[in-house]
Amino acid sequence: MNLGNASNSEPIDELVDVLTIALGKLRNQKYHLIGTHAAVKKCLWVHNALLYRRFCYKCKFYGIESHRCIQFSPSTLWCWNTCLHCWRVRPQDMGIGEFIPTKLPMIDDPEIIARLAILEHKRTVSGYKGRADEVLWREAMDPKHVAISLTGEPTLYPRLSELIEVFHRLGLTTFLVTRGVRPEVLASLSEEPTQLYVSLESWNKDMYEYFNNPLIKDCWERTLTTLEMLPSFTCPTVIRVTVVKGFNMSNKDVEGFAKLLSRAEPTYVEVKAYMHVGGSITRLNRENMPSFKEVLDFASKLANAISYRVASYSIPSRVVLLTRMPGPIIRYGKGCPRAWEEEEVGDEYSGEYGKPEEVI
Ligand code: SF4
Repeated sequence: MNLGNASNSEPIDELVDVLTIALGKLRNQKYHLIGTHAAVKKCLWVHNALLYRRFCYKCKFYGIESHRCIQFSPSTLWCWNTCLHCWRVRPQDMGIGEFIPTKLPMIDDPEIIARLAILEHKRTVSGYKGRADEVLWREAMDPKHVAISLTGEPTLYPRLSELIEVFHRLGLTTFLVTRGVRPEVLASLSEEPTQLYVSLESWNKDMYEYFNNPLIKDCWERTLTTLEMLPSFTCPTVIRVTVVKGFNMSNKDVEGFAKLLSRAEPTYVEVKAYMHVGGSITRLNRENMPSFKEVLDFASKLANAISYRVASYSIPSRVVLLTRMPGPIIRYGKGCPRAWEEEEVGDEYSGEYGKPEEVI
């Protein structure tokens, strides 16, 4: 049964039944649904920032004020990959993967989506009044950043360019995180995001077919096209390499990634540990999660291979920042004034993996 173009002819009833199952599960996971395909979910670091003044690594790297950040997706259930390391709730994990089409059945208006996303963020932080520092709480009620990274593939939303433009017009910065499977969409953006991320775990087609399980043919070739396009963007670009022990952390992998990164010439490379959390624990083992030291060792070798340097790191998030930039000159908020030198609280069990509040 193909619901691909349900909007044309296929029984809407079946699609509504399937979406009802999916949206119900998302609500249980505290997703705040917006219209027919977008959502906001309070990020762990919004909570940590408001209650413990502990900010996410993007605060240290880029000045993001975590408590003022909206974790958002315009394509909540729609992705062209089913990656092994994905921690998010996915249709495949709900047993309805085959019923969710690979393109959005309905397209909501970007102005409405953006304004509702801001409202939903405020709803998620309103309850901290009286529990959080008053100044931080007032700032959180006036969001300044949107991380278009929550779940799904954002380039599947055909009005993405307009959506980015609306967020910017409303005074918010945008981090667009994509797998790079729609280079034609990225190439046609009339408004670039504030910062563009491409996620990468594989450096050849065999690795990609095995680990990133594409649902559409030629996704690997599309990803390569996106990497080739990166130097043409005026906004800073980031390639986030998620490292998985036993899969992509050998010296041969350093060489493989170095070849791809040299073609893409990103402003930054983030080398980040796979975290054994969420839906991924049914597909990968805890042993696949590298320690911070193992991530730093791999990142240092990669930096040498591409003539970048280790500029900063975050132990709680097990991530290392590589760049050729002379210093943290690009800051998107007033978060973490000491920037790349910012002191951190907590060890590698106090971030996305572990119980951060125990640290205080
Ligand atoms: S930038 Fe990412 S990690 Fe930081 S608060 Fe926003 S969604 Fe969370």
